[in-house]
Amino acid sequence: MEKPERERAESAARQAAAQLTAQDIRGVALTWVDNAGISRVKAVPTARLAHAARRGVGASPSFDVFLVDDSSVTSRHIGGPDGDLRLFPDLDRLTVLAAQPGWAWAPVDRYEQDDTPYAACQRQFARRMADAAAARGMRLSMGFETEWVVTHANGHEPPRYACSGPAYGMTRVIELSDYLREVLDALTAQRVDVLQIHPEYSLGQFEVSVAPSDPVGAADLSVLVRETIRAVSARHGLDASFAPVVEPGGVGNGAHLHLSLWQDERNLCRGGDGPYGMTAECEAFLAGVVRELPALLALGAPTPASYLRLEPSRWAGVFQCWGLEAREAALRFITGAPDDAEGANAEVKCFDGAANPYLVTGAVVAAGLAGLDEGLRLPPPAAGDPALTGGHPRLPTSLAESLEHFQGSALLRTALGDPLFEAIAAVRAGEVKLFEGLAPKDIAAATRGRY
Ligand code: GLU
Ligand code: MG
Repeated sequence: MEKPERERAESAARQAAAQLTAQDIRGVALTWVDNAGISRVKAVPTARLAHAARRGVGASPSFDVFLVDDSSVTSRHIGGPDGDLRLFPDLDRLTVLAAQPGWAWAPVDRYEQDDTPYAACQRQFARRMADAAAARGMRLSMGFETEWVVTHANGHEPPRYACSGPAYGMTRVIELSDYLREVLDALTAQRVDVLQIHPEYSLGQFEVSVAPSDPVGAADLSVLVRETIRAVSARHGLDASFAPVVEPGGVGNGAHLHLSLWQDERNLCRGGDGPYGMTAECEAFLAGVVRELPALLALGAPTPASYLRLEPSRWAGVFQCWGLEAREAALRFITGAPDDAEGANAEVKCFDGAANPYLVTGAVVAAGLAGLDEGLRLPPPAAGDPALTGGHPRLPTSLAESLEHFQGSALLRTALGDPLFEAIAAVRAGEVKLFEGLAPKDIAAATRGRY
């Protein structure tokens, strides 16, 4: 980045820090998400924020080859004890944390010591893909749904759920009335635009969805929403788990990605003469996403526990197909109401909460743009449960299998760039090995407290 820009950021940070200090904010948590999907952090005292904006905060690149259990592997370009990066906070996203009094938060972009962009920065990858869409006159509107399971804290085995009411049942909202209100209060105080909050299917499970944003913004929001829920949970003596499964054998936690494609103020998911009113551009984009799903799964379902969730008939979208409001298809198309210009969108259902959201938004844009460039068409839509009706290919059923598709994806290698691509592949191979031969309940137990 240019020196004048860093100087401008420094003076903006100085002003922001003065405001934070006036609100008694003592520290700013600076987060990024590693390739295993874990939010890592360096924090600075508020008085140090301006320095962080000018010079960055040091952090090892080795986090990019960390596995879910904090062990690490190496990769062709990244790994080992040497080297240091600079973390630069995005001050536009600076947020006072409502459930952590005295704390603020900002996501970071990672740079080399000489201030050139770090090739394996996942957040800059997502931005590059958004820029690639902009170069074609398009923009993406995206939003993650956040599903989580609430248990009593302290790692009980088996987990003790914080409520016992039925799926989608009002009983759960009554049982956890104060907790859920505080989740809403905290998100609202942080200016997060909440669309819905409700109990989900599994024991102790809830879901919140927030208003869409650009690809980087949606990933930032996913981090903020989760860490806010985690903080509110801790204040209630509860644990929030966003892991793909808390206990195997049932419905898990998804992190579905909603997306719509826009040209100026026009939503290309509607008003066209393609399937269910989508435009040719939208159809081609979605066809690109559906085509790439087996490889994308290595990003969106990144850990062996992901494949304990990815079972048919659990609305996790394990078939490589799409359909109108089809909850067993990996891609569910939604038309919205006729007078709702924003309502039409597509939902990628097969991704989960272990995924790095920046990798997910960036890679989905890359896959969609390839479809757009090739003018792809969608196959006929699916309906019902392909587990019963047949006719649609099953997505990979193990991390080893999706890793093979990922390794073979020239599209994702080019989009991610070699250093990031290789680091991700090394982390995935490392986790395949880490969990090899373990029983599902042990994989779930080893993973549920990590996300
Ligand atoms: N919890 C389900 C999943 O694993 C999704 C349920 C829903 O459709 O919201 O993705
Ligand atoms: Mg849901």
